[in-house]
Amino acid sequence: MASLDYAYRRLVNTLGPERVARSEFERMVYSHDFASLPKIALLQWRLYPDFVALPQTTEEVAALVKLSDESLLQITPRGGGTGWCGGSVPNRGGVLVDMRKMNNVLALDPDTRTVTVEAGATWKEVEDFVESKGFALPTIPLNAAGSTVGGSINSGSTGFGGLRGGSVRDAIASLEVILPNGSLLKTASQADAGGQLANLTPLFFGAEGTLGIVTKAILRVVPKPEISKPLTYAFPNLAAAARCLKGIVDAALTPYHAALMDRDHFVFDRALEADSPDPTDLALVAVQGSKDDVADQEKAMDGLAAKEQGTKLPPAVGDRLWRDRYNNYSARRLSRGLMVSYNLVPLRRLPEAVEKAMEIRDKLKLNGSVQAHIVDTTTAALDPYVLMDDTKPSGGTALGFVKRMGDAAFKMEGHPMGLGLFLVFNLRKMHGNATSAYSAVKGVFDPRKKINGGKTFEVWTKYPWPGLRAIPPPGMAIGLEVAAILRRVKPTRDRFVRAYEHTKEG
Ligand SMILES: Cc1cc2nc3c(=O)[nH]c(=O)nc-3n(C[C@H](O)[C@H](O)[C@H](O)COP(=O)(O)OP(=O)(O)OC[C@H]3O[C@@H](n4cnc5c(N)ncnc54)[C@H](O)[C@@H]3O)c2cc1C
Repeated sequence: MASLDYAYRRLVNTLGPERVARSEFERMVYSHDFASLPKIALLQWRLYPDFVALPQTTEEVAALVKLSDESLLQITPRGGGTGWCGGSVPNRGGVLVDMRKMNNVLALDPDTRTVTVEAGATWKEVEDFVESKGFALPTIPLNAAGSTVGGSINSGSTGFGGLRGGSVRDAIASLEVILPNGSLLKTASQADAGGQLANLTPLFFGAEGTLGIVTKAILRVVPKPEISKPLTYAFPNLAAAARCLKGIVDAALTPYHAALMDRDHFVFDRALEADSPDPTDLALVAVQGSKDDVADQEKAMDGLAAKEQGTKLPPAVGDRLWRDRYNNYSARRLSRGLMVSYNLVPLRRLPEAVEKAMEIRDKLKLNGSVQAHIVDTTTAALDPYVLMDDTKPSGGTALGFVKRMGDAAFKMEGHPMGLGLFLVFNLRKMHGNATSAYSAVKGVFDPRKKINGGKTFEVWTKYPWPGLRAIPPPGMAIGLEVAAILRRVKPTRDRFVRAYEHTKEG
């Protein structure tokens, strides 16, 4: 392996000094994503990259990938860093490739109804551009403000619009990818107007940055709806809100978005903003279309909510929640960390799923909120979050929540989302015997495992010695299960949690 100083000089020759960082502070910033990882994780992984590189062109990305063969440094692609399982965090240092400088929205073609974007653009940036031209995105991840097009495609994201507009995967016409050998691949032919030719795009959807670095995407757009109207209903409990969401699909309604949030979310919100809605178990449903169509959908929704004793809330509540829809985790500011558990479950089991999530949260004596949204006609996303204090090793026991939630999702015929650094043990349960085929595909694309190596399919550690280089994925499951047990035995209570519990008692 070339020395780090030599590798740095080669990087600087490629990008210039202003787009290569190696200070302790900058490396620290990139040593975690949205997930709260307790400091104890540094014993297992080298989470700090050696260098952070910020390419501006596809050619520069290709050059970085080729340089890795010389330096033998690992490459970690990163978009907004909003993932929940350490996918965009290094496990053995190396070069972190931050794609955020490749954030141009290049062109919208009204004839083919597509928009071409660089992979580092956030969905919000793309949405703003597309809407300024009179179009809309059929679907957009919940965290549109922070997540990039390349990052969410690699995460297999779900979000707004799925029920009407299909999945994020359906919204991709084609991708431009720099493969681990430095060559450029276009995943689908632009001449394929009818969508009949072989298409490699799905291979890269949900690949968690293991097969190459996405540099551009051509995305489908749809005409902008005349009106969007957010409606909110308060329910006697969360299971009633869940039954209402299921009822939407049973009644063949297709709102743009339908989600539920428990009352605790609004307790946290109120601690941050006094004008936050009154805490209640609530459903947020956004309907879109022409004026008459929206009026019909609203009437039908009012009827469905009434069947579950739902009370319609004033328009100001819906407007506020809709305005803040891309910023759902402000509760993070109240504690010292926050952990989201993201799972897909059958829609028909959503009422049971929300109750299970509350039960797990309460058993582990955690504070957090249970939330869910409809993904499509058969599936719901169940994405509760909990507060945690990741500054203490004992605070990390809250990670046991993610393990227990994932187990519950499997039992309900669903599965957790995301593998990244520490949820790899779910891979085989998610993909069954296709797992070996996926690993073989990785071997073909990236035999040296230089891009996001040792994640998603296996768990590398930072140690170079045989026997310690990797741990069997079930080892991570055992670790998180132990965390859950410790959490039950000795829950940690940080300053905010004590204040919050006091409010509850009062
Ligand atoms: C507030 C909030 C809401 C969220 N809502 C959702 C949701 O609705 N649905 C959902 O599925 N997830 C959601 N997430 C999780 C996460 O935001 C998404 O997975 C997101 O789309 C990731 O995008 P990112 O740009 O932040 O990717 P990162 O976290 O930076 O990276 C994610 C993975 O993609 C890889 N990667 C990043 N860019 C590239 C690239 N250009 N080429 C190749 N690989 C790349 C990384 O190596 C990593 O493995 C949410 C997260 C937050 C914080």
